[in-house]
Amino acid sequence: MKQLDIGVVGAGPAGLAVALFLSRAGHRVEILERFDTPAPVGSGLLMQPAGLTVLAALGLFDTIQARGNRIDRLHGADAVSGRTVLDVRYDAAPGGRYGLAVQRAALFNTLHDAVVADGIPIRTGINLASTVQHGERVILRDQASRVVGDYDLVIDASGARSLLAAGSTSAPTIRDLTYGAFWATLDGAGAAHDRTALLQRYDKAKVMIGLLPAGRATVGDPDKVAFFWSLKIADVEAVKAAGLSRWKSVILDYWPDCQPFLDQIGDWDQLTLARYAHRTALPPFSGNLVFIGDSAHSTSPQLGQGANMALLDAAALSHALSTSGDIPSALKAYARARRNHVRLFQMLSLAFTPFYQSDSTAIAWVRDRLVSTIAKVPPMPGFLAAIVAGTVIDPFKSAGLTEHDWLSQRSQADTALPEVNAARSSAQI
Ligand SMILES: Cc1cc2nc3c(=O)[nH]c(=O)nc-3n(C[C@H](O)[C@H](O)[C@H](O)COP(=O)(O)OP(=O)(O)OC[C@H]3O[C@@H](n4cnc5c(N)ncnc54)[C@H](O)[C@@H]3O)c2cc1C
Repeated sequence: MKQLDIGVVGAGPAGLAVALFLSRAGHRVEILERFDTPAPVGSGLLMQPAGLTVLAALGLFDTIQARGNRIDRLHGADAVSGRTVLDVRYDAAPGGRYGLAVQRAALFNTLHDAVVADGIPIRTGINLASTVQHGERVILRDQASRVVGDYDLVIDASGARSLLAAGSTSAPTIRDLTYGAFWATLDGAGAAHDRTALLQRYDKAKVMIGLLPAGRATVGDPDKVAFFWSLKIADVEAVKAAGLSRWKSVILDYWPDCQPFLDQIGDWDQLTLARYAHRTALPPFSGNLVFIGDSAHSTSPQLGQGANMALLDAAALSHALSTSGDIPSALKAYARARRNHVRLFQMLSLAFTPFYQSDSTAIAWVRDRLVSTIAKVPPMPGFLAAIVAGTVIDPFKSAGLTEHDWLSQRSQADTALPEVNAARSSAQI
């Protein structure tokens, strides 16, 4: 493929990663971002082996690993009875895989620093609203309909509320999910918590409380924990009106270990309300405008795949452009490469979410009695581990990637984080 002029809309994980891949492949790339200063939005997230493999392909594995916190298992218990409801361990599947919990700031800093080091321009304070296909070029317009750029290819990585996707021929149908969550990033030092696991407590499917030990924004910074509380969006105002003390006492009744974290919350402003929408843009391109990350597909974060899928999209699009003769065939190849993996995880997210976020007591009963029992019977532990890892079907080959070598990195990680190893060996839930 000839050298292309490429405009990337959005400096989130998808936009930053695709800009790195394509600039390194020799294209002229610029990023356009609505914020005056590009910045991460939100609290912590769980990077899976799928997304970590993409970061490794960009040469960023060691950087993210030094900032993140290795996660070996996902453990959820009924808050009332204490019974284990969910226990997924990465090592139930072969290969030595593990997750890495990170602050959003850590993922952002890792990618953004690389973009700056590679000299990729970022134009800020530009709120993109529409595109016009003009022959083989795409013209980008902002919200005041001003032309801000003219490219061979525009990559929309502007997230789940993308105006460009909504205005395209691939506009997805948006299903706003009833439940969302309050999230906060809190100090982890001094609090007794298992640093090797994502921990959750449930009361049926209407209450879900979570703690994710999310590492540090940059090496030397204090370790943080991402805390979340699931609730119906329609109940947010009533919860706030009842007051912060009432909200904290409800949580402490369920899970007293949350005390040191709740003590750090003195104002509702410390909590971010996340709303979720389920949507898929099909096909993930329209003319010479292509969608990646949440702009192409978003869902509830129940399976913790969104940022990982965004990174896989970035790698797959870059691979398709490097192995196709022209843009239309490259975009079709990108759509083919990601189709099955995206479909599967969109379907699984839609199926799993009501088990953890819904008003149904019947679904919660099935989860607590049947699913938790079946989940222990081989080959289910390995299958669940592969779902969580994002590898239940191979996402790598079609994106031109080779999976990261977990076994060799594992020993390096163990050397790097002795205090985590101590916690890991003593962790008993
Ligand atoms: C509460 C919560 C928890 C989550 N937990 C996990 C997890 O554990 N693991 C995981 O993998 N995923 C998780 N996700 C999903 C993950 O956050 C997203 O899938 C991921 O951020 C998508 O990346 P993106 O780059 O596509 O979009 P975004 O991260 O949304 O980035 C979009 C960028 O585009 C910019 N932008 C938006 N509109 C415009 C515009 N009009 N013009 C210019 N710029 C614009 C934004 O400012 C932003 O910089 C979670 C999501 C939420 C809400």
